[in-house]
Amino acid sequence: MKLSFHGADLGVTGSCHMVECAGKRILIDCGLYQGGRELEEENVEPFGFDPASVDYLLLTHAHLDHCGRIPLLAKRGFKGEIITTSATRELARLVLLDSAHLQEEEARHKSRRASRRGRETEVPPLYSVLDALNCLEYFGRTAAYGGALLLAPGIRATFIDAGHILGSAVILLELTESGRQRRVVFSGDLGNAGQPILRDPQPPPPADVVVMETTYGDRLHRALEPSVEEFYAAVSETFQRGGNVIIPTFALERAQEILYYLRLGVESGRLSQGMHVFLDSPMAISATEIFEHHPECYDRKTTELFKRGEDPFHMPGLHFSRDASESMAINRITAGAVIMAGSGMCTGGRVRHHLRHNLWRDRCSIVFVGYAAKGTLARRIIDGEKSVDIFGENVAVRASVHTINGFSAHADQAELLQWHKHAGNPEITFLVHGEPFAMQQFAARLQHTNPVIPELHEEFEL
Ligand code: ZN
Repeated sequence: MKLSFHGADLGVTGSCHMVECAGKRILIDCGLYQGGRELEEENVEPFGFDPASVDYLLLTHAHLDHCGRIPLLAKRGFKGEIITTSATRELARLVLLDSAHLQEEEARHKSRRASRRGRETEVPPLYSVLDALNCLEYFGRTAAYGGALLLAPGIRATFIDAGHILGSAVILLELTESGRQRRVVFSGDLGNAGQPILRDPQPPPPADVVVMETTYGDRLHRALEPSVEEFYAAVSETFQRGGNVIIPTFALERAQEILYYLRLGVESGRLSQGMHVFLDSPMAISATEIFEHHPECYDRKTTELFKRGEDPFHMPGLHFSRDASESMAINRITAGAVIMAGSGMCTGGRVRHHLRHNLWRDRCSIVFVGYAAKGTLARRIIDGEKSVDIFGENVAVRASVHTINGFSAHADQAELLQWHKHAGNPEITFLVHGEPFAMQQFAARLQHTNPVIPELHEEFEL
């Protein structure tokens, strides 16, 4: 039995881990590296194993940094079975097709740039829309929360609610080889308890080996309630000043969560009835539709709302902009609008246009409600740069910048420690999916286990 690491090692993105047992190879996640050119160049590198030799790919959730290299895996020979929860399957399809579109667009840009320099080289995309469509045929069984699936003799997998995004799961592997038994738990990404819409993360079962994320291994979140109040105050004050509120939004989960709170704000009178809310992201609009047909993932409150015939994601004044022309029309609005657009870290997408129109205006606000990796435009604005480059233009940062931490979809240090405690006293705990500093801080707090921070392609006997 072996466990090896092929992504999100000493870093946050590119999750990919492999288990070898009873003659089978099982991959847990196959994510994209994101955040800055240097990291993204990692994506074209060899996986560190032969994709054709992989029998199963178990996906913890549909975020790109966990599923984004699947089309590449299939293109390089993977022919196994991909197993996910049913909500993850639907979201992954959306996420992968969107990613393929972006890859194609980026490759076209690079090719054009090369020709302008007098080089007639065609830069191929990391993968194409066709590659993304092709990989969908490997999505096989879906897993219900809590039910064990037999993958092969000696290998059982159980998906447990991770409370991170719709369909997200912790995966328990029960392995038997030559009479030796090992229980290995992969945390995937763990949710932040008390968030609306989804259930809280379920405690993991006892395990011999734990592989866990450490995104916020070094810090505690602010409580949710003051964060929601801070959010309402930022919106109201901006409208009083006569500006717009730009919210760089992750299409999955965070967009729906913000819609949920905006509706609640209007209903409780804390936000103006007359405000206009633009969800300017075709992907977030589709994701919201997917949310509406996966009630098996909701918490009690959201289930009750739907039962009463109320939609937690809708309110008066809400506009969905799918077309580019609708998106451009928003640029003419100078006040009274909440504009939600991707990408969440401002590395691409429509939000960059909205930033170009609003970032330099001191009446406006930019409200960050999610994680911003090093090297991204979001991080530069949050870190207080006086001006930033958008579409080759220097734009002054004069808008108020708010970073609201309580909305995190990730568990904080206390929640991670609590989760780890439920896994019993694992012999070994591998820390992945975090910045090195967060990992070291977290490792120092762990008790009754041997914490290990693996390096890329490092292999361990189980
Ligand atoms: Zn995630």
